[in-house]
Amino acid sequence: MNNMAEPRAQHAVDPVELTADLVRCQTVTPEEGGALELLSALLSEHGFQCQRIDRKGIPNLYAVWGEGRSGRTFGFNGHTDVVPIGDPKDWTVDPFGAEIRDGILYGRGSTDMKSGVAAFAAAAISFVNETPPDGRVIIALTGAEETGSPDGTRAIVQWMEANDVRADHFIVGEPTSLKSIGDAIKIGRRGTITVFLTVTGVQGHSGYPEKANNPLPALVDLLQGFGETAMDEGTEYFAPSTLAITTIDTGNPARNVIPATCKATLSIRFNDKWTSGKVLDWVSTHTRTAEEKFGVTISTDHHLSGECFFTPPGALSKLVQDAVEQETGQRPQMTTLGGSSDARHLFKHCPVVEVGLTGETLHQVDEHVSVAEINALKSVYGRIMRDYFGSEGKI
Ligand SMILES: [Zn+2]
Repeated sequence: MNNMAEPRAQHAVDPVELTADLVRCQTVTPEEGGALELLSALLSEHGFQCQRIDRKGIPNLYAVWGEGRSGRTFGFNGHTDVVPIGDPKDWTVDPFGAEIRDGILYGRGSTDMKSGVAAFAAAAISFVNETPPDGRVIIALTGAEETGSPDGTRAIVQWMEANDVRADHFIVGEPTSLKSIGDAIKIGRRGTITVFLTVTGVQGHSGYPEKANNPLPALVDLLQGFGETAMDEGTEYFAPSTLAITTIDTGNPARNVIPATCKATLSIRFNDKWTSGKVLDWVSTHTRTAEEKFGVTISTDHHLSGECFFTPPGALSKLVQDAVEQETGQRPQMTTLGGSSDARHLFKHCPVVEVGLTGETLHQVDEHVSVAEINALKSVYGRIMRDYFGSEGKI
């Protein structure tokens, strides 16, 4: 394979063509749609060892270059699945056509995040073949990020840990930039938990309320209490945690019946002051107070979408900031905005930073990405790897 005469041509993968090829794979979450297979074939051809780590029907790909080498291990995480297209009539292009018009590539997943995956794969193929590092490069991809599946990136990390594979640092290729490529990276995201409350009193005739115990005043008082106390004031890198009441339900069709139960749902976004356990403890101090005050019982159930992820600013974020600045001319700010990402499965394994394109049209109709930005992102990823492996001892 290593023809000394023309190593560049052999290992030059066009990230725009690769993005287009991936957009043409129909990967509405959690469909594999041929995307991971395409990447597996491409990466294998250029020296990566690839294996599928599917779990419970969720497709995942683990690719590594440099197995058996000493030195450090640098990882990239991304996803090939996309959110549904909605009504195809709302699109002015074929959502899976990957049409390029005036330097813009259109299609579902073009921003989130097939371009990120393509840019890194192309950068890594050039890097490991042209300037082989003393270390390993891992590409860990899932086909089910958008569903929030516990069998996606989490399964890959668990497989790595069970097999004694340890990455030293990871980057995630989600779109993180705000207005133009390179203006922002993410070092954290707030956690998200949904809490379901059920207040149970005693049903009765509304004409004889003394014989019943109406759960509604208890719920109203409880919810008011949540609204009055701020969870926190924010932290150095995070906005304040927030609590939103998303529904209140009694489902009582009768005019003269005090209901036995009523329900409410809370959507809570929490920063690095909290864990999901602490949030649930905080909720239950409120519910216990309401139980005592009103003589009702309050049960809670919850769904954890993701813990808060946070890698404090340090060597990795500085290296990424420096590399982005060198390639794009602007120094990215470190943000913690947005919903959850798969970085939440990685940050306990090793430091992780998210760096990618602008996300202006992600999840929208006519999702698109600029061809110039895809090429710029490949350059950014290439420089991150060169600086990383060239900085032995500094990071
Ligand atoms: Zn994404």
